Amino acid sequence: MFEIKPHWLNYIDGEWCDSARCLTVNNPATGAPLATVAEAGIADAEQALAAARRCADRADLTRARPAQRVTWMLRIAEEIRAVADMGAWVLCQENGKSLRDARDEFVEAARYFEYYAGLADKIEGTSIPLGHGYMDFTVYDPMGVSAQIVPWNFPVSICARSLAPALAAGNAVVVKSPELSPLGMCVLFQAIEKAGLPRGAVNLLCGPGREIGSHLVSHRHVDQIVFTGSVPTGQAILRNAAERAIPSVMELGGKSAALVFADADRKQLLDSVKSGIFFNAGQVCSAMSRLLVQREIYEEVVDAVVGLAEGLGVGPGHADPDLTPVISARQLDGIEAMCRRAVEEGARLATGGAAFADRAGYFMQPTVFRDVAPTMNIAQEEVFGPVLAVIPFDTEEEALAIANGTEFGLVAGVFTQDISRAMRCARRLRAGQVFVNEWYAGGIETPFGGIGLSGFGREKGQEALYSYVRTKNVGIRVAGE
Ligand code: NAD
Repeated sequence: MFEIKPHWLNYIDGEWCDSARCLTVNNPATGAPLATVAEAGIADAEQALAAARRCADRADLTRARPAQRVTWMLRIAEEIRAVADMGAWVLCQENGKSLRDARDEFVEAARYFEYYAGLADKIEGTSIPLGHGYMDFTVYDPMGVSAQIVPWNFPVSICARSLAPALAAGNAVVVKSPELSPLGMCVLFQAIEKAGLPRGAVNLLCGPGREIGSHLVSHRHVDQIVFTGSVPTGQAILRNAAERAIPSVMELGGKSAALVFADADRKQLLDSVKSGIFFNAGQVCSAMSRLLVQREIYEEVVDAVVGLAEGLGVGPGHADPDLTPVISARQLDGIEAMCRRAVEEGARLATGGAAFADRAGYFMQPTVFRDVAPTMNIAQEEVFGPVLAVIPFDTEEEALAIANGTEFGLVAGVFTQDISRAMRCARRLRAGQVFVNEWYAGGIETPFGGIGLSGFGREKGQEALYSYVRTKNVGIRVAGE
């Protein structure tokens, strides 16, 4: 247990800055106020953007040999690991997530910096043969100033996911933290500060999305937008980005389906359901929110999943239970409203369906709907809570049609012992990532991103690095050849 500072600041141009106004951060397990954070205003955003612009224009991160960036990034990773226990406590208290998962976020953040440190000196162009008399090659330039908007569900690891490749490629960055969970990111930036990056290379602002977020993403100093969050906000940002044709990476929502065939390994399946929909109280963009089950094992699987949900340990994050609270009263109300609508539409509530009445914080019961029709709202819209929609199917063709039948396409899963079936499904599933026999198989090394309303661009893996650079081609006429 660590003492939590009562007031936190923004990080602008190498300084921690206060503000006249502040935002209150609550503990979702109790609903009680936890701390305040300085609320960035337009003037703060202007200062941060100007600092990042100066850093990018001076080419502070790319002027030195690439090995210098490797050193900075490895140092950042080391400093993050050093604050992981304290940071995890802060993140668990402000966000509601389990202490174990909060610590994993800090470790994952360190891993992002280590991983991209390994690539920072390998951003190599190609030489293109044009015949005698010509030399032609490509170089990868940084974008310049990257504006990054972070959501509240995994603020520390998502922040590191975009920040690490951006810095590895030599960009200066302005990050906006989420209003509901900004403190863990302050701890992350305290660690980053110790690595001694050039002034203005990284800046952190916490403020209202509609004011500060929209100011950032439409600013003339910004060369790239990286947004992770909801579809309506992403669409609003893209409309702004269109005005200045700013390249964007959009990591949006999902309604991801697992296809469960009769030969599926039951233990692998149940372990995956537990992490797929109940991890982080279901507040995961790539949550397994639809379970498509072949009819011959449908009753058996529904019973097992209901048993799993009803057996989950529920409690505040610091007790490391299976199921933690959701982030806010508003989020809880929204989840309950979607459950009521599902019942009105004819889905059968197998368990859960409402908030825990006897708990002070924002605790949603683990919920399973059975006999869900693919067209129902609960099978089409993101809930962002611990709510599973179970849908029966008969054939592989039908399962694929249901799985691909939403506007989203973030991830998907296939549970079967038949490798040919798994490969056929993986090829035909409309999703950026497919898991076979283990939901979340993959890691920071594997490219991640969506199709359709789930967004575009890829994060994670070597591929993500190329979201943070521009290709320039240089063609040379060689005299005398
Ligand atoms: P949100 O869209 O409400 O907010 C995300 C961020 O955008 C916050 O920092 C917010 O302040 C900011 N914002 C709000 N309005 C803005 C505007 N007009 N201009 C600029 N910024 C603005 O999303 P949320 O509720 O914080 O997060 C949940 C959503 O995020 C879910 O839909 C989830 O699926 C998605 N998500 C996606 C991924 C992914 O990698 N694909 C990861 C995590 C979360």
